[in-house]
Amino acid sequence: MSQPRHHPEAETLLAYVAGTLRAGFDLAVAAHLHGCAHCCAGVRRLERLGGALLDEIAPAALAEGASAAMMARLDAAPPADPAPRGIDALFATARRRWVAPRVWIAKLDTPHAPGDSIFLLGAGRGARTAPHRHRGRELTQVLQGALRDGDTIYRAGDMAEHDAAQDHFPQVHGDAFCLCLFAIEGRLAARTLPGRIAFGLAGV
Ligand SMILES: [Zn+2]
Repeated sequence: MSQPRHHPEAETLLAYVAGTLRAGFDLAVAAHLHGCAHCCAGVRRLERLGGALLDEIAPAALAEGASAAMMARLDAAPPADPAPRGIDALFATARRRWVAPRVWIAKLDTPHAPGDSIFLLGAGRGARTAPHRHRGRELTQVLQGALRDGDTIYRAGDMAEHDAAQDHFPQVHGDAFCLCLFAIEGRLAARTLPGRIAFGLAGV
């Protein structure tokens, strides 16, 4: 796989290292790290720099106690391969549910906040989501194929981050079957009635 061009935000990587990233969202970041030498290097750098740097550069971006959490994590687990462990098994056992002619969703059995959604989405050529707005953050890790969102194309290995109140309209790009891992905070707000019905059926 070629190296990704779209990466998690620095703040997201920092929270991942500190162990303060929202439950479930860490899975998406771990999946990204699996194929991104650039971000793996960033993670190792952050782990070396430790809690002192966190306090210095981003006190407002981290939850209270982040430094202590990070130091505890460093004590408990020395820096090693940041690739996700067991992630392939998690993906393999996820039950797929077809929600549209060329689209399936498989919710993942990984810890997350009530109301959040962590799921794999498989979509064939031409498939698109309903236009929607977020009530919270969304991380999308492209595992296979490509996704177009506005003028940006996210290919296998890329991560897209969206914040609350951003409207967007992702769709499969190209002929290859597209497989993505989504971590979504809260429910999606579809902009159309068919979208609301589709999201309701999919449980997102
Ligand atoms: Zn990266």
